[in-house]
Amino acid sequence: MAQLIDGKVLSAQIREEVKEAVSIRVKAGKRAPFLTVVLIGEDPASASYVKGKAKATAEVGIGSDTLVYDASISEKEVLEIIERLNNDPDIDGILVQLPLPAHIDERKVINAIAPAKDVDCFHPESVGNLVIGNDGFQPATPAGIVEMLQRCNIPTAGKHCVIIGRSNIVGKPLANLMLKKGIDATVTVCHSRTKNLPEIARQADILVAAIGRANFVTGDMVKEGAVVIDVGINRIDDASRERGYRLVGDVDFEAASKKASHITPVPGGVGPMTIAVLLQNTLKAADQK
Ligand code: NDP
Repeated sequence: MAQLIDGKVLSAQIREEVKEAVSIRVKAGKRAPFLTVVLIGEDPASASYVKGKAKATAEVGIGSDTLVYDASISEKEVLEIIERLNNDPDIDGILVQLPLPAHIDERKVINAIAPAKDVDCFHPESVGNLVIGNDGFQPATPAGIVEMLQRCNIPTAGKHCVIIGRSNIVGKPLANLMLKKGIDATVTVCHSRTKNLPEIARQADILVAAIGRANFVTGDMVKEGAVVIDVGINRIDDASRERGYRLVGDVDFEAASKKASHITPVPGGVGPMTIAVLLQNTLKAADQK
């Protein structure tokens, strides 16, 4: 039976480290780091993520505010808001909660964020630094995964890491992090056009599922002793729950945990790590000034 990788416990360690570093900063006479979150529209999932981020910042002593705008706001107005935040010396990090309403070009908005405040690590300059291997902001979810592996003493050097999913926020940046010198994995990235995906997945020493489909990774796709990281967050109907649904990952947890050496749960796995890295990035943004 696989050992559980507990994202709640590991993220609490990171939050404690950030809290300590913030406290040292403040004792040295500097102001607390500050994060501004921009939320556009009324997507309930986005609102809930933003609430979680605000709570997490407060707990470690990072200041934050959330600017909430109606979905009807124009792209031009959003770009003007970003410009104002870029020029505000009291703001260290800017995070625009995605997705944006269809009439606003997400790429334009991300590109408008000053790279020095790009705590989500989505700006092309941040992505470029990641690919080259320069120090810079860490992509939150991928860096959260690497933190999990390292804090659980799971070796990565020379290991075959198979990532299912090639999105700009998970699959691609994770591939770059796993390739980085010092992490040194051999990386394969799969996507919807990949042939023989189960066969490739079975070769993984570290198998990462970032697809967005409940129970996509079945037990027969997991090699005996593999480390399984489940990034997916999927809602499935569940009449026994008050809210009418429950959250599951992309991995058939029951079946995979019979073969894996380590596995992350959903919820309580990668999710909490993502927020912890955002806090690290906000501290870094403030310290870089
Ligand atoms: P995207 O929808 O952007 O990407 C999904 C990827 O999965 C694509 O590359 C797609 O391939 C691939 N895919 C879809 N269907 C198949 C298939 N049948 N076979 C092989 N590959 C397939 O999703 P995200 O990366 O944004 O998110 C993935 C999941 O992770 C979601 O459930 C999301 O909610 C969750 N997530 C969780 C986070 C956390 O903090 N825990 C953070 C971010 C995301 P193709 O490119 O060819 O279309």
